Amino acid sequence: AFDRDRRNMESDSEFENRIRPQELDNFRGQEKVAENLRVFIRAALMRGDSLDHVLLHGPPGLGKTTLANIIANEMGSTLRVTSGPVLDKPGDLAGLLTNLNAGDVLFIDEIHRLSPIIEEYLYSAMEDYRIDIVLDKGPSARSIQLELNPFTLIGATTRSGLLTSPLRARFGIQCHLEYYDTDVLTGIVKRSASILSIDIDDDAAQEVALRSRGTPRIANSLLRRVRDFAMVKGDGVIDLPITRTALKALDIDSRGLDQMDNKILSTIIHKFGGGPVGINTIATAVSEDAGTIEEVYEPFLIKEGFLKRTPRGREVTALAYSHLGIAPLSDGTT
Ligand code: ADP
Repeated sequence: AFDRDRRNMESDSEFENRIRPQELDNFRGQEKVAENLRVFIRAALMRGDSLDHVLLHGPPGLGKTTLANIIANEMGSTLRVTSGPVLDKPGDLAGLLTNLNAGDVLFIDEIHRLSPIIEEYLYSAMEDYRIDIVLDKGPSARSIQLELNPFTLIGATTRSGLLTSPLRARFGIQCHLEYYDTDVLTGIVKRSASILSIDIDDDAAQEVALRSRGTPRIANSLLRRVRDFAMVKGDGVIDLPITRTALKALDIDSRGLDQMDNKILSTIIHKFGGGPVGINTIATAVSEDAGTIEEVYEPFLIKEGFLKRTPRGREVTALAYSHLGIAPLSDGTT
């Protein structure tokens, strides 16, 4: 089962790479972020400098890795990719940094998960393009300074709140990615379909977009699943009826909420009287990690108006009751 999972993951990432836009012009939506980056990239190129360090934050699947690729591409430089949890030894970081050529881009995904020691090393690397390496331990310990080529660090995080302020302060450019609106997502679905030679009707593309939680990664992966249904249960062309059939089979409801979204809402309603209730309590009740709920599920539920954050915890809204077809509880006084 493990091998099969791994194969699936590999084919998923191959697929993601095929449809990942390579130029800013093909990166849809996020207009403000894209426009600002265009200016900063052009200015850096005009001066012949490396681009200032960039922090990208926002929920998963909105295009952080894609933007890192695009930035490296537009700067005409090479992208090196690593992630916070992987970088645990100072030696690994030093190896990575000393191998960077002038202008290279180092992408650190999940940068909020860097260990404090690695973070310390990054400070001087980011600020002065040098690192101090300590050799030996005890009385013979001494440190040597390594000069680095000027490089651009791009950090991506789903939890910018977890970043320490000294680290955050070292990013000259900070961009927040927002959920995509349906029109932009429809365009993304159509673009992916055409790259993959998939026939999809306009209204079907829009339906996929509507049900994708504002997230290109989900839109692209639903497109593939709907294609499977169209091949097996239809004539290969993705039309609206086959799209609806597929989405129903995948347990994605009319507002694009998946099983976990609905489970969170119904748990708050049924077990906690609609809230307010703390995030950890919700996490235990639905058997999901609290961090995942905060990063992945909650932002979308809040944006769509199903959930509210209050000082005393999370509370569902009237929309959540009507969406689940549950009559709101009276407050007990009647
Ligand atoms: P993140 O790093 O934020 O989790 P990714 O950059 O890996 O997200 O994006 C996930 C998928 O969505 C990729 O396959 C990418 O092609 C697609 N994607 C993301 N943003 C856009 C966009 N603005 N336009 C077109 N495709 C996009």
